[in-house]
Amino acid sequence: LEAKEEFTHKTLAMDVMRPRRSDPTLTILTQDSMTVEDVETVINETTYSGYPVVVSRESQRLVGFVLRRDLIISIDSALKKQDGIVSTSIIYFTDHCPPLPPTSQPALKLRSILDLSPFTVTDQTPMEIVVDIFRKLGLRQCLVTHNGRLLGIITKKDVLKHIAQMANQDPESILFN
Ligand code: ADP
Repeated sequence: LEAKEEFTHKTLAMDVMRPRRSDPTLTILTQDSMTVEDVETVINETTYSGYPVVVSRESQRLVGFVLRRDLIISIDSALKKQDGIVSTSIIYFTDHCPPLPPTSQPALKLRSILDLSPFTVTDQTPMEIVVDIFRKLGLRQCLVTHNGRLLGIITKKDVLKHIAQMANQDPESILFN
């Protein structure tokens, strides 16, 4: 019993975050190198509520977090109403987009739907603290980093499942109470 108690107190953000070691990697968007089509593929192939946006896949530096529903609405509306936006247009989450040659297609700027300061914790943060932050700030999700590189995500549901596991309860019963 004692050993278990010690263990539960030592659960860290990295133990609860997704992806798990065996899972596919985190689904991210890059700030200035994906086309409308690329982002539509991500939206169609995953069901996540949101996606972290990074500087580049190599750097994994976090830029912000974008909600799936905001992406869908903005892309749909741009394809319908914005002149020149097609499936091969580049999406920019950056402040400024580079000057494009006059012959190229207009870019789609989506900075306005990006949450520029999503809550983050490091992978070594004890879950006790993470749970506390979720409660106090009413978070829906929190990103996990290591040395400034994005590693994973913890959603409110992940936290609830973790609490249920700690209490040895059926996670479903907590979720729907
Ligand atoms: P919920 O946890 O409420 O079901 P999501 O549908 O966004 O919310 O997430 C489902 C699961 O996938 C969660 O365990 C979460 O940690 C994980 N997840 C959320 N967003 C991403 C993402 N962009 N890439 C990989 N996994 C994610």
